[in-house]
Amino acid sequence: MKIHEYQGKELFRKHNIPVPDGSVAFSVDEAKGIAKKLGGFPVVVKAQIHAGGRGKGGGVKLANSMEEVKKYADEILGMNLITHQTGPEGRIVKKLLVEQGIDIKKELYLSIIPDRETAKIVIIASEAGGMDIEAVADETPEKIIKAYINPMLGIQAYHSREIAFGLNLPPALMKQFFGMLKNLYNLFVDYDCSLVEINPLVITGDDKIIAADAKVDIDGNGLFRHKDIISYRDLDEEDPLEVEASKFNLNYINLDGNIGNIVNGAGLAMATMDIIKAAGAEPANFMDVGGGATAEMVENAFRIIIQDEKVKGILINIFGGILRCDVFAKGVVQAAEKTGINIPVVVRMEGTNVDEGRKILSESGLNLDTAVDLKDAADKVAKLVA
Ligand code: GDP
Ligand code: MN
Repeated sequence: MKIHEYQGKELFRKHNIPVPDGSVAFSVDEAKGIAKKLGGFPVVVKAQIHAGGRGKGGGVKLANSMEEVKKYADEILGMNLITHQTGPEGRIVKKLLVEQGIDIKKELYLSIIPDRETAKIVIIASEAGGMDIEAVADETPEKIIKAYINPMLGIQAYHSREIAFGLNLPPALMKQFFGMLKNLYNLFVDYDCSLVEINPLVITGDDKIIAADAKVDIDGNGLFRHKDIISYRDLDEEDPLEVEASKFNLNYINLDGNIGNIVNGAGLAMATMDIIKAAGAEPANFMDVGGGATAEMVENAFRIIIQDEKVKGILINIFGGILRCDVFAKGVVQAAEKTGINIPVVVRMEGTNVDEGRKILSESGLNLDTAVDLKDAADKVAKLVA
């Protein structure tokens, strides 16, 4: 689960990681009210969307007067913010974070993620933080430093020293930094995070370390342990079809291609996507209806996929095991009738009760193309949309 910067900063405050004063605003008036309470300029007005790169996209502004707060809040609220992480379609801004501006002496980069290769937790840091961190990683990777932590042992003093020296921190700031890094590590572990990132982590003119940005991603599988942050989920920021699919326990991910596919089992779904590509076409989604799917789930899957306007054809690939082919075929027929589908559908089906299933499909009077095997299915659907 992704959360907003203002929510990440709430978690930071609870874990004693210093952040600027401020809070979230849903209107220009609220933004002005917060700025007034902060009691001094500059004030930073920041778009809250689930994507980074806001600064470069015009979603972060420094206001030096109440008029500017009003002007920027007005500009940013409701804007379609396009950043390298939103894709070309951008994201409509519905909330702002209004916070105290800080006097930035130096911008550092700091993040913590799980490292799958070593099965450790890795702290990544750079003294060249700020908005060009991607370029730093590409062009001067030696400026990126890493410390690997055995999760069973947790963060040790030597890890903190390694990072602090790598960041060239002045000795006077070490103690502050060590405390902050330990708190950040604890937050990462306590909340089952898949990422915490602070960019920039700021050294201020008066030598304080403050998190000017906060990105916190939480592993959805651990969410049941964190009832306190369930309300942080923002459905506005998620793909509407993915939200719809999650209501029916469908494993659905929206992709860029034009061939929708419905498959039972994640491995088979991945293989199906591969073979669609091998046939020269592109999958429009990943959709695993699960091994034990019911006719209703198939129907929901169908309904969701055809709502996606880029879908020009559907490939259904089912291995009837727990989900018997006849049950599945009924689901398809039901769905096709209810939705009045008008794009080509190719079905490849094997397994328990396959003959009965095929009979149901062929007697349905629907325009369904059946395939003899997976390759045949992919070739057929690719040809149909070519
Ligand atoms: P991002 O572009 O989405 O990562 O948004 P950030 O929160 O990192 O803000 C972008 C940039 O705005 C930062 O890299 C800073 O340079 C600048 N910025 C953010 N807060 C302040 C602030 O309080 N004072 C000043 N002077 N600049 C800030
Ligand atoms: Mn940032």
